[in-house]
Amino acid sequence: MPPSDPPLAEPLTTSDKPVFKNVDWTDFRDHLATADQQGRRMWLYPKDPEGRYTTVRKWVNIVLITIMFTGPFIRINGNPLLMMNILERRFVILGQVFWPQDLPIFATAMLIFLTGIAIFTAAFGRLWCGWTCPQTVMMEGVFRKLEFWIEGDHHVRRELDRGPWTLGKVLRKTVKHAVFLGLSFVVGNTLLAYIIGSEELSKIITDSPTLHVQGLTFMILFALLFYGIFARFREQACTFICPYGRFMSALLDENTIVVAYDKRRGERRETLHRSETPAARQASGAGDCIDCRQCVVVCPTGIDIRDGTQMECVSCTACIDACDNVMDKIKHPRGLIRYASLNGIETGEPLKVTPRLIGYSVVLLALVSLFVYLLFTRTAVQSTLLRARSDTLFQQTADGKIVNLYLLKVVNKTHLEIPLSLKLEGSGGSVKVMGGALRVPGEKLVETSVLIEMDPAKLTGGSTPLSIGVYREDEPGKPLEVLNTFFIGPRH
Ligand code: SF4
Ligand code: SF4
Repeated sequence: MPPSDPPLAEPLTTSDKPVFKNVDWTDFRDHLATADQQGRRMWLYPKDPEGRYTTVRKWVNIVLITIMFTGPFIRINGNPLLMMNILERRFVILGQVFWPQDLPIFATAMLIFLTGIAIFTAAFGRLWCGWTCPQTVMMEGVFRKLEFWIEGDHHVRRELDRGPWTLGKVLRKTVKHAVFLGLSFVVGNTLLAYIIGSEELSKIITDSPTLHVQGLTFMILFALLFYGIFARFREQACTFICPYGRFMSALLDENTIVVAYDKRRGERRETLHRSETPAARQASGAGDCIDCRQCVVVCPTGIDIRDGTQMECVSCTACIDACDNVMDKIKHPRGLIRYASLNGIETGEPLKVTPRLIGYSVVLLALVSLFVYLLFTRTAVQSTLLRARSDTLFQQTADGKIVNLYLLKVVNKTHLEIPLSLKLEGSGGSVKVMGGALRVPGEKLVETSVLIEMDPAKLTGGSTPLSIGVYREDEPGKPLEVLNTFFIGPRH
């Protein structure tokens, strides 16, 4: 049977927490919560949280995990929901294919993303980290839950790790790490499917391994990477690696909503004794915090939120639930730890719209407008016309016409084949696509040679600017785009 948590009247104290025994709790801002004074990693054994936020988070996790794992297999117009094929420079977002030619749209989307994060963080702190970050969702929503299930809650896990290698311990550890490895393999494969597409992934799985050595290597590397993160690295990914956690501190201010301890209400923290009445406690000047440390025991990053907002806090709300449960037991109002701004805690004021927030919002609005404009003016095809490499700059035909050779590249951004034709905008020449009709299959890039033939009398010198219209054959009235180039002829 797992040992139960200590009763409220006998709270954990610093010395009761062997995992933190080398830490001076008064210098919490000078060291990491998960490193002792020699810099050694201290393994955390957070307690399985329960409460209203945990319940909501469980359902949010289920929705997000479902989307995460089915994303590469959901099809819109035959395309996946999301694919970031960096190798082939092909990107699919919500079933729409984007090409490197759509760089301005990508750059704007990236700026919107970054500005959005800045605004969101300035207003709501690390809400992203606690509720939607894939690392937190998978770690706290899946791997940690499996660990609770296989090894037990915090006391049991700590005792198990400290104890000798009995058959039971070997079995539990073997099962846990086998499950973790298998699940990491699934997570790694899902990530791979987001990069190369689910069809390519299934080929790697079903074909002979010798045909996909590179793909298999990535598969194994991703599986090992995720196993390392979820089995060992854990909260260190948020504290050491994640850049968001780093720049978050620059974005927060006293009006940001964070998971916060109401020190005005909680202090002076003091143990609650069984015989103590609420009136006697109030008269003694003690605050609502009974120093039970349940908020610390559940924290997956090992911090004490009562010390104030800290870089390690991922806003997971576990401490809110833990403290609310304590408040319920001692019949005090919930919310000693809650979502609040520091200003709100100090003054009782609601969230303020600061000039910084207004500034970020104006920038975001401008970027979103630009993004919508770029999206709506995005052409179905995108072409480039470059002069082809040749020994001669131009050639002359038997009837005296001058001919230049070009290389045409056309990207079809739609999922339907488009028949195209080229036309010289102006008189005095003609355009001929080599190899017959120009039909560009959906979501493909076609390269072909193009000959432009000009009447020498229409040339304005050694180099004459030309405009070539790209037309849909079935809609010849208006060009899809106009390509500008130069035509080289004999100098007069
Ligand atoms: S803040 Fe709440 S959970 Fe944390 S020690 Fe105080 S009473 Fe306990
Ligand atoms: S302090 Fe609270 S909200 Fe922050 S990480 Fe720890 S348990 Fe989660």
